[in-house]
Amino acid sequence: MEVYLDHAATTPLLPEVVETIYDAMRNINGNPSSTHKLGRIAKTKIEQARKSVASQLVASAGEIFFTSCATEANNMVLTRCIKDLGVQRIISSPIEHHCILHTLERVETEHNTKVDLLDVNPKGAINLEQLEELLAASEEKTLVCLMHVNNELGNVLDLEKVGNICQSHNALFHTDAAQSMGKYAFDLSQNLIHFLTASGHKFHAPKGIGFLYMNANTILKPMLTGGAQERNVRSGTENLHGIIGLHKAFDLAYAEVEERNRKLAELKSNMKNQLQTLIPGVLFNGTIEQQSSHILSVSFPPSPKNEMLDFLLDMENIMVSGGSACSSGSVKASHVLEAIGCDADYKTIRFSFSHINTPEEIDFTCNSLAKIFAKA
Ligand code: PLP
Repeated sequence: MEVYLDHAATTPLLPEVVETIYDAMRNINGNPSSTHKLGRIAKTKIEQARKSVASQLVASAGEIFFTSCATEANNMVLTRCIKDLGVQRIISSPIEHHCILHTLERVETEHNTKVDLLDVNPKGAINLEQLEELLAASEEKTLVCLMHVNNELGNVLDLEKVGNICQSHNALFHTDAAQSMGKYAFDLSQNLIHFLTASGHKFHAPKGIGFLYMNANTILKPMLTGGAQERNVRSGTENLHGIIGLHKAFDLAYAEVEERNRKLAELKSNMKNQLQTLIPGVLFNGTIEQQSSHILSVSFPPSPKNEMLDFLLDMENIMVSGGSACSSGSVKASHVLEAIGCDADYKTIRFSFSHINTPEEIDFTCNSLAKIFAKA
């Protein structure tokens, strides 16, 4: 048996998505900027995708811009906010994705932008009282940048709460929704979120396609200049087949969202229950009561097997994210595990699920882990 439990890293294309893209590759090949018939057909496909995404997010089509990935969209928000909206300070957290954290390092040194990282507790919960205090303490134009679902812990941020805090202090709010898109309902018409980014390959669309939502009142200038595609926000010939694939995957995700979430919750609680019984002392990371059902971060108690655990699982054909060996001198602990003060003697593995996983795969994984640790 081969078990893929690394869906927070990327997801495989669903057969329906493959079929849709394959069909488009054979039949739809115009340049969307061309004014002739083939160009117009291609353009229509893109606009249909944009409308579908917008309507599900309760946004307007003019607020959705396709990008190559969430990394690009996050870079654009953080760098252009400073130039276009006069942002002087960015408040974020130490458990954001590297495409946020490394860009923050850059804007701090290159643009002299003030960056404040909020405290997180040992469960990875972000200190929102500190956010309020920081916002109240300064009149500087501020962007708050906090991810919706944390990619290592699965913690879910209360977007409405943070959006309201930002609104009451006149701050802009950006959320990286790469891990939550397709799994959560959004209502961007409330105008609490100014920027939101997403990535197709996290919800069974192809790699290399994502999108950026920008509130109509805070449209940024382009990071890439050129042929003025995407209403001059993102130049470069559109990834037509990627957008068509994203459209299909997005529609499927929301048509099936409840059913998928129900399956994910079952898979996760099944795995938790089995691990608790089979491996004494196992710990689960994150704010357990506010977690996405597709991520389970597990810390295994000290064992001679820990150093080799990623490899041993790989040998069993079980694919997970090793995260880090906190204790190992050679493997650097993940910045997220470091931020929550993960016990250095434990080994943390991130298991991440899709609705296409089965209970049998969970049983196989738990039994393999039990065997691995039994031999210690
Ligand atoms: N943000 C989060 C929370 C992610 O998990 C990822 C991917 O792992 C990214 C951003 C980057 O996404 P992309 O691969 O589309 O650049």
